[in-house]
Amino acid sequence: MIAKSTHKLVLVPTPIGNLEDITLRAIRTLQEADLILAEDTRTSGILLKHLKISRPLQSYHVHNEHKTVISIIDKIEKGQKVALISDAGTPAISDPGFLLVRECLKQGIEVECLPGPTAFVPALVNSGLPCDSFVFEGFLPQKKGRQTMIEGLKDETRTMVFYESPYRVVKALEQFIEHFGPDRKVSLSRELSKLYEETIRGSLTEALAHFKLKEPKGEFVIVVAGKST
Ligand code: SAM
Repeated sequence: MIAKSTHKLVLVPTPIGNLEDITLRAIRTLQEADLILAEDTRTSGILLKHLKISRPLQSYHVHNEHKTVISIIDKIEKGQKVALISDAGTPAISDPGFLLVRECLKQGIEVECLPGPTAFVPALVNSGLPCDSFVFEGFLPQKKGRQTMIEGLKDETRTMVFYESPYRVVKALEQFIEHFGPDRKVSLSRELSKLYEETIRGSLTEALAHFKLKEPKGEFVIVVAGKST
């Protein structure tokens, strides 16, 4: 469907660690916004204060997105410039945003996502695994359906990218070994763009041995090689 309105929703990526990783356009968009929708107004308040931006903030998160979508669309239709940010990275990438994007498009409102920080791209590129073709899986389910999801990926030939909590990194590596075999290549990037940024590369067995000795800490992206053909 062609968007009918000149108004639009702008999704603004914010840093995943290093505060210098924000674009000039992102800053200008936030400065000019009539309303900034934020996943966590306290977290975003710190970033906005750092950028010396003082614009009205409204919370928009998984627990209120269904309730607030209609009133947000109403504001955009009335001409307000609305920007959406999440706690870190690109909104709607394993973060709230998809619902609002879909609803805006349904209502004929244009959506623009500014290019900017997201964790999976540097992790994928740093991995040294093929990045010409890949699948982004985001977070695996924590319990129910987790094994089935992993089993369903055992014949995937493209590089696979996962977000994972540090508390489940060892479990994920053990399950990947179970379903993909011990020799599959993996790369784990932690704390991207932060002080303790580090990437560990090797076979699943080597990575598991590493993280059994050194407790996983910080934020992780796990990149797993696809099945060789
Ligand atoms: N919207 C974000 C993006 O564009 O990447 C993702 C948000 S999701 C709630 C948070 C997950 O992203 C973390 O659990 C971790 O897997 C990954 N992540 C975010 N920042 C990271 C960083 N600095 N280093 C490594 N992984 C990171």
